[in-house]
Amino acid sequence: MKLNDEILSFLQKDALKRFLEYIKIDTTSDENTGTFPSTEKQFNLGKILAKELKELGFQNVVLDEFCYVYGDLPATKGLEKKQAIGLVAHMDTSPAESGKNIEPIIHKNYDGKPIKYPKNADLILTPKESPELEQFIGMDIITASGDTLLGSDDKAGIAGIMTAAAAWQKYPELPHGPITVCFTPDEEIGQGTTKIQMDRLPKFCYTLDGGEMGELETECFDAWKAEITFKGVSVHPGYSKNLMINAIEIASRFVSQIPEAETPQNTENREGFYHLYKMEGDCVTAKTTFILRDFDKKKNEKRMTYLTKLKETFEERYPGLKIETEFSHSYENMIVYLKEHPEVIAKAAEAIKQSDLVLKETLIRGGTDGARLSARGIPTPNLFAGGLLFHSLKEYIPVPALQKSAQVVINLANNWAQ
Ligand SMILES: [Zn+2]
Repeated sequence: MKLNDEILSFLQKDALKRFLEYIKIDTTSDENTGTFPSTEKQFNLGKILAKELKELGFQNVVLDEFCYVYGDLPATKGLEKKQAIGLVAHMDTSPAESGKNIEPIIHKNYDGKPIKYPKNADLILTPKESPELEQFIGMDIITASGDTLLGSDDKAGIAGIMTAAAAWQKYPELPHGPITVCFTPDEEIGQGTTKIQMDRLPKFCYTLDGGEMGELETECFDAWKAEITFKGVSVHPGYSKNLMINAIEIASRFVSQIPEAETPQNTENREGFYHLYKMEGDCVTAKTTFILRDFDKKKNEKRMTYLTKLKETFEERYPGLKIETEFSHSYENMIVYLKEHPEVIAKAAEAIKQSDLVLKETLIRGGTDGARLSARGIPTPNLFAGGLLFHSLKEYIPVPALQKSAQVVINLANNWAQ
């Protein structure tokens, strides 16, 4: 669908205004509280979004006790029977950097030079860290001030959805079927769908939580956790010949058997890995925790077989040593579910192209809320939100990405309403 200049300029202004409003609100999540939501302050944004959805004509708007915001937008007259779709974005920002008192800077007409930060003299952003910067020469770019992240992950996604909603209200000629919006807390700590009400969501959803303009992510990791516990025997070290079984020492020999080529620092694109992220213990007991990641589940299964064989070898080499292995599945590659519904991907790909963007169908080397929703029966690919260098002090977003995000949502809804 071709949008006229008036609508495009509305999208640009409205999306920027909303984005700057939403990033003012501190919504950092915290993986150590164990509560739902993990931080009370996420309600501050939830309340604003619920109020705005009502003003934009949404019905059944709720902000529930776990800080999920839901709202339904009735279809354009005559399109009530069309397939409903869901639009999902997360309200929290990563605990990796502060999200408090974010002071955005708009670098007008970016000239390609290194970007400096007023609140952090040591920080500098150049195309070396982010080669995409060169594509944005001549555009306005937003960064934070050097002491916080920016919050484009995922407030740019929220702004894209809310701006599309504002356009549907202001320009009733933009057709859409029934739309459900859901804003989630705690995505950054892996809890974004823990308390979600599945029956509040339509059959198909889209998250707006990806990277640069034009991206459509249809694949994510198949993800496992492997916990390996070593149980040894402690004896006075002066009298321990042939008796002591030093659990932590043996554990360190064990982890040195992991193929070095299959670690995060040595892999990219479709390559999977073992990542040792925790090791603790003493002579009696030691515990190592790995995450296993791949796009192909069979390759992760091979890694688990390797660890199991290694366990057997070590138990044989050190009689009396006990090793326990525990594998748990964290999430699955969403392509397994999405490929059964090719129309979900096709309509999104079309919407991106209709918005005058180059489509980049890609994979995400991580997980998304959509991966978990897909596995639970709601196919949910991930659309770009527009920001780059997420979770860091150098996070930035080109201003046109905000407009494009809203434009893609409008085209997507139109495609489903045909
Ligand atoms: Zn995100």
